[in-house]
Amino acid sequence: MRIVISEFMDAPAVAGLRARFDVRYDKDLVDRPRELARELVAADALIVRNRTQVDAALLSSAPKLRVVGRLGVGLDNIDVDACAARMIDVIPATGANAQAVAEYVIAAALLLLRGAYAATPDVAAGRWPRPALSNGRELAGTTLGLIGFGGIGRLTGRLARALGMRVIGFDPQVPASSNVWRDDDTLPRTLDQAVAEADVVSLHVPLTPATRNLMDAARIATMKPEAILINTSRGGVVDEAALAAALRARRLGGAALDVFEQEPLRSGSPLADCANLLLTPHIAGVTRESNQRVSALIADKVAAALSAT
Ligand code: NAD
Repeated sequence: MRIVISEFMDAPAVAGLRARFDVRYDKDLVDRPRELARELVAADALIVRNRTQVDAALLSSAPKLRVVGRLGVGLDNIDVDACAARMIDVIPATGANAQAVAEYVIAAALLLLRGAYAATPDVAAGRWPRPALSNGRELAGTTLGLIGFGGIGRLTGRLARALGMRVIGFDPQVPASSNVWRDDDTLPRTLDQAVAEADVVSLHVPLTPATRNLMDAARIATMKPEAILINTSRGGVVDEAALAAALRARRLGGAALDVFEQEPLRSGSPLADCANLLLTPHIAGVTRESNQRVSALIADKVAAALSAT
């Protein structure tokens, strides 16, 4: 059976698949769509990260396809309905990069609340901005508002509590009466309450019509004046222009964005040069350890799914 891998996968996991299957692995295949389509003609399985668009056009070039493995969690690059219609199994690496994302959120919250870590050039040049940087905040005692209380939201809450944060959250799929909140020592709130009450708002939702522009100008305006906004979920959940305007007007304490409406971020973005804004290129879930876990998990699951068909 043939497996096509169109984006980066950890080498030992690829080697494990090669021992059992006919594997075509090229981490740059995603950038050569015509060649990818040719490779897919005989493919039983396809393994992707988040750049390969598994849409109707791609599926039409893969008549034998039975399995799509996703080296990550979000499925917004995969036409899940079209796959279901063709009985193609879609397998995400659920949980395998949660620790990486949760640690990113905590690190960003610590950095942004303290506000002192960009001082290196000043200090190295003999300047001494001590008065300006003596008003940073501690994480302990602040409130974390989790929007989305799935796998990553819950783990982030656990790390935050270990550092002394109080944790509140909102998730329309987890009713306030659910034990899940109590088990994780998290206080359920409505969306509006969570956003207005938190010192750090962290987004952990999928991108859907209901979550697109969830953090728009009106909702950002209800955040505390010095609050921090962290988005590791998906671009499109935060209105980037509205966030930039709030940061420039000093109506927010800071923000960290790992994901963007358009990736790579287009030049001339309103986010350029905003104060206390941390931008990273969609790496919150990507560490050495998570790469290994994600690749090993998907290799195992894809192999098992192929063996079962
Ligand atoms: P998950 O499915 O376990 O949890 C998502 C939660 O969001 C669910 O509990 C769901 O009920 C909730 N939700 C749905 N609509 C909502 C709404 N309108 N308001 C509030 N909550 C809502 O997913 P997860 O593994 O926790 O991942 C969360 C997000 O993080 C996904 O968007 C995923 O793509 C993203 N992610 C990003 C990276 C990265 O590198 N930046 C890595 C991993 C995951």
